[in-house]
Amino acid sequence: MTRDHNTAVEKSQAWLKENTKRYAFKKLEREVVITGACVECGSCVAGCPVDALTGEYVDTKYVPSLTGKCIACGTCYAMCPRTSIMQDDIIGEFTSVWKVRSLGDHKRQDGGAVTTILGHLLDKNEIEAAVVAGQSDKLPWMPVATRVTTKDELLNSGGTVYTHAQVIQEMHNCFKENLSSIGVVGTACNIDAIQRMQTHPGSYLNIDSKTDVFKVSLFCMESFDYNGLIGFLKGEGIDIGKVDRFAITKGNFIVTIGEEEKSWPVKDLDAIASSSCSYCTDLTGMNSDLSCGNIGSDDGWTTVLVRSKKGDKALKAVIKEGLVEAEEIDEKALQAVINTARSKKNKRFKLKPPH
Ligand code: SF4
Ligand code: SF4
Ligand code: SF4
Repeated sequence: MTRDHNTAVEKSQAWLKENTKRYAFKKLEREVVITGACVECGSCVAGCPVDALTGEYVDTKYVPSLTGKCIACGTCYAMCPRTSIMQDDIIGEFTSVWKVRSLGDHKRQDGGAVTTILGHLLDKNEIEAAVVAGQSDKLPWMPVATRVTTKDELLNSGGTVYTHAQVIQEMHNCFKENLSSIGVVGTACNIDAIQRMQTHPGSYLNIDSKTDVFKVSLFCMESFDYNGLIGFLKGEGIDIGKVDRFAITKGNFIVTIGEEEKSWPVKDLDAIASSSCSYCTDLTGMNSDLSCGNIGSDDGWTTVLVRSKKGDKALKAVIKEGLVEAEEIDEKALQAVINTARSKKNKRFKLKPPH
């Protein structure tokens, strides 16, 4: 049977045009070739429909480069094994995405969606406890995995903390005490730990069908070493004990003290980032029931990705009860989440100089 390669390529071009943002070779060069992530497979060179690329050896390394006229068809970027192009690979599967803000006593600068939803689940006895990263009584902004069983305890559990907390350890403690249904708020890495236990055939969370975890992930670019954070702030003349709020927004690390706000590009804090975060490629927490964060929504709102029936039910319940305002977000807002998630994935390519 003969095949018609040109027709297949035309169909491929049409599909990319219809379904993806088509990136030109320059982006591939910047993200993959220059960073040293290129595996020298030659796919981009051979797959370019207008033969605009050439692969040449520089010493013993094969390097693709632009030698003709690029028509920005997107093929090379889309087919490179090192890029993240499909939405599901970048932010995972979801059924709907919203911007949400609390209307009740959970009003917070970040929209308060997580607190309102979990508080409602506690109120309705749909979960027996929630485990969140709270703050130590002794050391300011030192995270402590905190178990709460009422809405008020949840509300008083503190603001966003950017250092690791052992929320999964505390979740285990809940199950050891024979609790059945727990809500957990954590970063993608925390949620992955739960997912491992829920899917591993040898894990009690998988074996015991009476256990249930409602998983809420918080968007996370990176977390910091606690002492490193104190040192960084000290160097900037800031006492961590005086800080009212930390936030990471639009690539900036923001510290609020009273009415004053100071910010730095997040990359300025790379030296104090947890080494574990260098290996992390998931911004949103793809294995959660709900993924929440402030990227994509205006100040005062939370972006919420709904990933499961449980997540959908919990969000719809607080909307129905009038506890939150919620609107499905538009394509532009979703794209902001995707772009940030992609840049987090690409960070791993900057670990080593190319050779
Ligand atoms: S497709 Fe990607 S990995 Fe393969 S040669 Fe081109 S840039 Fe390198
Ligand atoms: S024409 Fe298409 S495949 Fe060729 S270099 Fe440009 S974007 Fe890449
Ligand atoms: S960047 Fe990844 S590993 Fe680091 S705290 Fe966030 S989710 Fe966890």
